[in-house]
Parts: sequence; C-alpha cells; structure tokens
Amino acid sequence: MSVGFIGAGRMAQALSRGFISKGIVKPQKMMASDQSESILDFMKKQGVSTTNCNIELVERCDLVVMAVKPHLVADVLQEISDFFTTDKMFVSIAAGVPLEVLETNLPEETRVLRAMPNTACLVHAGATVIAPGKFVRNGDASLVQKLFQTVGLCYVGTEDQLDAVTGLSGSGPAYAFATIESLADGGVKMGLPRDMATKLAAQTLFGAAKMVLESGKHPGQLKDEVCSPGGTTITAMHELERGGFRGTIMDAVEASALKAKEMG
Ligand code: NAD
Repeated sequence: MSVGFIGAGRMAQALSRGFISKGIVKPQKMMASDQSESILDFMKKQGVSTTNCNIELVERCDLVVMAVKPHLVADVLQEISDFFTTDKMFVSIAAGVPLEVLETNLPEETRVLRAMPNTACLVHAGATVIAPGKFVRNGDASLVQKLFQTVGLCYVGTEDQLDAVTGLSGSGPAYAFATIESLADGGVKMGLPRDMATKLAAQTLFGAAKMVLESGKHPGQLKDEVCSPGGTTITAMHELERGGFRGTIMDAVEASALKAKEMG
C-alpha cells in the first residue's frame, strides 16, 4: 500500500517517521506534497518521494492523509476531488472538519476516516481516536488504527466522540504543560534550581502516567497507595481538593469539548 501526505508539516513528518520506524510502510511507498521546498527536504532525507502537486500525489497513492491546516481543507478537496476513486482511502487529521464535509466534497462512496491525534505524536507518545465514515470497508479502520499506533495510542471511535476527545487528549497536553510548569514553580519557591525543578516535574508526570498505563490500576488506587496516614502527600491532596483541582480539570475538558462542538 502506498501512503501520501498532502501537507508535509509537523504532523505528516511525525507520522511518516512512525510508519518507517515501525516498518509498517516503506519510505519508497510514501509520498508527500507541499508548497514549501524546505519542508519537503525533511521527507526527502527519509527517502520519501515528494511533489508540489497534490493531484500527482492522489493519483499515485492508495491512502491519502490530509495534513494541511483546517482552513485550507476545502480548497484542497476541490483541487483533488476529480482524481479520487473508491479504491483509495482518505484520512483527514484536520481538527474540526466533519466527516460529512469531507464525504460531500469527494466522489460518492469515497472511503473517508477522520482522526483526532494530539501533539505528542511528534514524540511517538500520541493519543489518537479515529472515526470511520459511512463508506469504509471491513478492515479500513483497523488498518488506519495500525498506522496511528506507530506514533502512540489509537482507538477506533465514533465521530460524535471527537469533541470530547478534543477536550481530553487533543487539548490535554496544554493542561499537562501547565501542570509541569506549576509543579516546577512550587519546587523553585521551595528552593530548587529551575532546570532541576522542571525536569523533576516532567519526569513525575511521565512516571505517574506510565504507572497508570502499565499497572492497569485505577488512578484513585495508585493515589491512595502513595498517601500515608497523616503524611505529606495526603496533606498536599487536601490543598488540591480545597482549590477545586479535580473539578477545574473536568471544567477544562468540558469547556474545550463544547468549544470544539461550537466550531465544528
Ligand atoms: P503544519 O503547519 O506543520 O503543516 C501543514 C503543511 O501544509 C505546511 O507544511 C504547509 O506548507 C502545507 N500546505 C499548506 N497549503 C498546502 C496545499 N494547498 N497543499 C499542500 N500542502 C500545503 O501543521 P501541522 O501541525 O502538521 O497540522 C496539520 C493538521 O493536523 C492540521 O489540520 C491540524 O488541525 C491537525 N492536527 C495537528 C495537531 C498538532 O499537534 N500539530 C494535533 C491534532 C491535529
């Protein structure tokens, strides 16, 4: 199977690196189109063929990944639509562009899937949910899932879940960055050097996330296990509860999801 990326920016580069490193798609079977030569240089270095022509890419690839910014999707669809056939698959990672818009702007019965990845795909620790459109065939969703699993976790879901996914894992890295910064600020306030505090904070979130994923234990149980009676951690947890920590995070997920719904 040949895979093409329309738009060879950060996400396309992360995905192509993932496909190559996991041996899922060979570089010779990949192509990228972009208007920027300097952007295409990265793809060339990986052995991926490049073009400035989106139509050439569509003609030569079995699976086309739309990886331009959302406001450019309509123009690109108009450009490529006549060259799309039902033996090809179309995957859009453009945030907030609904399946219906994609399907109605491509030929009847085009096999379309929409993906909501997050920025951590850039370091192969992403979280993605894919939503199959109405014309996908058996095996299409699992194939695309396999591709996104090369850059992290990937679930197959439904389009009506994607606003909630945006609120959680799509916007979530920003909440985590702010948490890391806050932890580091606390450490600095209590006398640690900034660099050490930031690295300790990041490693703490990384380690806690790894424990949740690897132990399969409920996060509440893991939290209980580190709260000794009358100890430091339960004392700090009390402060977090007093500040509305968990309710605030839930509010943030809800706000982002509602905003995504409003924009979609
Ligand atoms: P990016 O700006 O790094 O890459 C987009 C590329 O598209 C650029 O290299 C640009 O030159 C190229 N381009 C513009 N017009 C084009 C055209 N007509 N034909 C071909 N190429 C064209 O953007 P990105 O961060 O890689 O995001 C790509 C998509 O992924 C967006 O739709 C975004 O919503 C989605 N997404 C990104 C993230 C993220 O964390 N970066 C997360 C979730 C979803």
